[in-house]
This record gives sequence, structure tokens and C-alpha cells, in this order.
Amino acid sequence: MSAYRGRFAPTPSGPLHFGSLVAALASFLDARRTGGEWRLRIEDIDPPRCPAGAADTILRQLEAFGLHWDGPVSWQHDRNDAYAAALERLKGMGLAYPCSCSRRQWRDHPIYPGWCRDGVREPGKPVAWRLRSDLGLRPVVWQDRLFGEQRFDPAELGDVVLQRKDGLWAYQLAVVVDDADQGISDVVRGFDLLDNTPWQRQLQHALGVPEPRYLHLPLIIGEDGQKLSKQNLAPALPEQDDAVRPLLHAALVALDQAPPRTLATAPAEEQLRWAVAHWEVARLRAEALRQAGTVTP
Ligand code: GLU
Repeated sequence: MSAYRGRFAPTPSGPLHFGSLVAALASFLDARRTGGEWRLRIEDIDPPRCPAGAADTILRQLEAFGLHWDGPVSWQHDRNDAYAAALERLKGMGLAYPCSCSRRQWRDHPIYPGWCRDGVREPGKPVAWRLRSDLGLRPVVWQDRLFGEQRFDPAELGDVVLQRKDGLWAYQLAVVVDDADQGISDVVRGFDLLDNTPWQRQLQHALGVPEPRYLHLPLIIGEDGQKLSKQNLAPALPEQDDAVRPLLHAALVALDQAPPRTLATAPAEEQLRWAVAHWEVARLRAEALRQAGTVTP
């Protein structure tokens, strides 16, 4: 196995919140514990969803929490050629096809039924590109480091979109191409992305690139039982040192790392030094949701 290289890959649709801090912190600690690298990738492939300034805020927030990344920040908006080349390769192998269908047309089906596999149904209309999942069908299986064996039936996964009708790249393609080109060995991210992983495994297999290890983390839910997210207006992470300290401590508690209470008022760098030295995935409890209780800002 090559050396550890992890990444944090936020979509700059708004500032980071406590849930994103927990994900960033876990991937940082997991990388640093083994002396590995930790990269930062801004996933801004969908410009209408990314307000101006949000990415800069994310960089400042990470710095404020002492989460310093290695190397230059990578930006998905710079990666058009790499995504296009990957799509061309898939087309060349007969594994990608254009599709004119709209969601409305197949709304009575649980997944897209593959109507355009053997030719676009409505020629002349805008097309999306999809991955053909019906060739060489076999279950997608992998071992999540926390949630154990994951097994998905390709017939239930459908033909994932690679490029949208409006020309924007789909997250699944971009993330696979970027993880491969950046030599990412370990993906550590929230449980909400676990059911995206089988499409990513399919694409890795189709493109013949290495498959990283995966560790999905329990999602933090607020007191209202809702997942903390930008959509339900989870508060933005602070950047002032006196507010950063207790929140970083709370994030370590949320990750079951049992930080000493005295650390709660220590500077971020000191908390992180302790946390790197003590990081243990085995302490995490495999539950999809974790109540944040009073720890959210
Ligand atoms: N950009 C995705 C998000 O912010 C995360 C992608 C990933 O970690 O694979 O939800």
C-alpha cells in the first residue's frame, strides 16, 4: 500500500458548520496519526450553488481551527480537461452513453431504467452522459473501516450520471477522477456520502484506477433531530480563538476521542497535538447519527 494521503473536499455552498468540522477533523487526524498527507480540495463544480466568497471563508475557518493542509488547494473548476478525458475514455470503452430522458419521464421507476442505452430516445434534445452499469454486472462490495462490509446490487444502483444536460460535471465523476489523480489513499467523510460510494467504486473499476479505503463517520444531528447542514441553517463555524477552542473540544468529543476536560480551553494547536497522538478509529461508535446535544455553537 502506498503512503497515506487523505483529503477534505468541501463544496463551497456556504461556510463550514459543526458537522463539517467533525468530518474535516477526523480526516485530518487520521492522516496525521500515520504521518500522512492531508489535502484540501474545493468542490466547486456547480457554480450556481457556490456563492462568491464561500470558499475563502472555508479556508479561513480551517486555518482558525489549526487544520493546515499540505500542498496547494485544488479547485474542481480547474479540472474540466481531466473530467472530459475520463468521460472520453469511458465512451471509448462503450461504458458511457448519451441520455435525453428527463426525471419526469421515468418518475414511476425507482432508478433510471436505461432507456437510452442503445440509442438516444429523443435525438436532437440536450443529453446527459450516463455510465452503463449493465455490462459485467457484479455486486459492489467493500469494507468500510467503521461500518464494515458494504454490498450493493448494481441492478439497484442504475446508470449514474457523469455529465449533466447543462454540461456541468456530476459529483461522482469529478470525485473519482480527482481522488485518483491526487493519489488519495483514504477517504474519511460523513455517513451521508456512504450510499454514493458504490457509484464511485463502479467508476474506479471502469477507469481502472486504485480504490481508496473508506471511513464514513456518524452524522451530527442537532437538537431538532435534523442533520446539521447548510440547508437547515446550521451556524457557521467561528474564526475567533476564544470560540474556536471549546468547539474543537466538542468536535473531539463528538468523535468519541475522550479528550481531557482541561484541554477544552487550550489553543487549537495544542488540542490537535493531543488528538493526533491519541486518534483511534476504534473508539468511534458505528451509528449513522450522533446527537450533537449542547455542543453546537
Ligand atoms: N463535496 C462533498 C460535500 O461537501 C464531499 C465529497 C467527498 O468527501 O467525497 O458534501
